[in-house]
Amino acid sequence: MFGKQAKKRVCLLALAVLVLALATLACGEEVSPTKEEPSAESPTRTPEPSPNVEPTPEATSTPEPTLEPAPTVDSLDCTHGAAFEADVTVPDNTQIEIGQHFTKIWRIRNIGTCDWGASCHLVFVDGDQMGGPDSVSVPETSAGESAEISVELVAPMVVGQCRGYWQMSVNGTEQFGDRMYVQIVAFDPSGPTATAIPPTATLAPATQPPTDTPQPVEPTPPSGDYLGAGVWRCPNNTEGAAYVGSTESDKFHHTGCRYAAKIDPGNRICFESREAAVNYGYSPCGVCKP
Ligand SMILES: [Zn+2]
Repeated sequence: MFGKQAKKRVCLLALAVLVLALATLACGEEVSPTKEEPSAESPTRTPEPSPNVEPTPEATSTPEPTLEPAPTVDSLDCTHGAAFEADVTVPDNTQIEIGQHFTKIWRIRNIGTCDWGASCHLVFVDGDQMGGPDSVSVPETSAGESAEISVELVAPMVVGQCRGYWQMSVNGTEQFGDRMYVQIVAFDPSGPTATAIPPTATLAPATQPPTDTPQPVEPTPPSGDYLGAGVWRCPNNTEGAAYVGSTESDKFHHTGCRYAAKIDPGNRICFESREAAVNYGYSPCGVCKP
């Protein structure tokens, strides 16, 4: 029994060893290919999915910006523009008799994106106003169209060339576009001697500052600050004045002139006589003709 049992044990042992050997052999064969396979697959796996994922979100994101156009922002805010096109009347250096009324017409194109309406005016901005208004209304003009704008003017009483600048304005404050000008040559049909002032006297004040008038010994201003012979600041009253003017202008007026009424009292100066005004460098208003 013992002998049979020993034989059985040997057989069992041998079987166990064989199984173990087979197991390790099988394991050894299986391990080596599995180690190689992932190492070969892993470099191909990682680059492949990333390019496939990335292009798709990019492709879907590009059509999105085309979905939101914003034209409403532009239509709320437009720009004003004006360009000179032509002198319809009174081309440059037209000869006009002194004191003569005339109508200046410009053709002006609306080169902005805003239409011109009631808030738009042509306003006087610089130079010689020639008795014209401070502003004139403008016909309703769509963007891209042009309009003829006219101003009633009066040639000055002083012989020679003079020029006034005008510009488009919106809401009475903002000026825009080209500065238009009207330039005429005022002439005296009865000759240079017909005017009381010799031509040299009228030309001199324009180039020389008013301070070079000789300081007279008789400072007799009825009120306010003395400025020169027969000339004084008169902010409070015009007593004793034959004519008035403004420190912001070089024109003098009859005290009853509508332009005299517009002078800011703080800028108002009074003239004892016509001669005093002319000597001080002022020229007569083209409207009230002092
Ligand atoms: Zn006047």
